[in-house]
Amino acid sequence: MSAICDCQRSNVAPYIGFDDVHFRILRDSSSLGQVADWSLNPVIPSRHVPGTNITVTQFMGFGLAQVTWTLRFGCRHQYHALMAKLAQRGTLRVLYGMQSHKGVQKSILDRVYEELPQTQLIGISNVVTYVDGSVECQATFQRAIDPVTRETVVS
Ligand SMILES: [Zn+2]
Repeated sequence: MSAICDCQRSNVAPYIGFDDVHFRILRDSSSLGQVADWSLNPVIPSRHVPGTNITVTQFMGFGLAQVTWTLRFGCRHQYHALMAKLAQRGTLRVLYGMQSHKGVQKSILDRVYEELPQTQLIGISNVVTYVDGSVECQATFQRAIDPVTRETVVS
């Protein structure tokens, strides 16, 4: 089923992943059993006017939305394939309803998924490799969205 390897273990969540890499997104024990959502901050540089009580601020749009999730890979081939995608842009596919960005809905079998294009993998950390071949890590993704429409901004 996967283009990366034929391990049965890699097919645990075959429709969730980043491009052709498959993983499960685990609940985060540090956030009361929830999965974190994207953070998004406006870019508002401020400049203090010397000798006054005046600070000038300017709204310069929004930065990139970021999220860090704990991922679990059924086999290390899938994890290695994600490593190879560091710094690349791709499509993140998750269960519909687990995050706030507006993506492209896809119904596969009896479940609804949401595809988030133009997503960049910018970091992998806290990697744990298990002797049974499975791997867990934290992965950070970023993407540009319009906070009003929640839709992807293509630059
Ligand atoms: Zn494999």
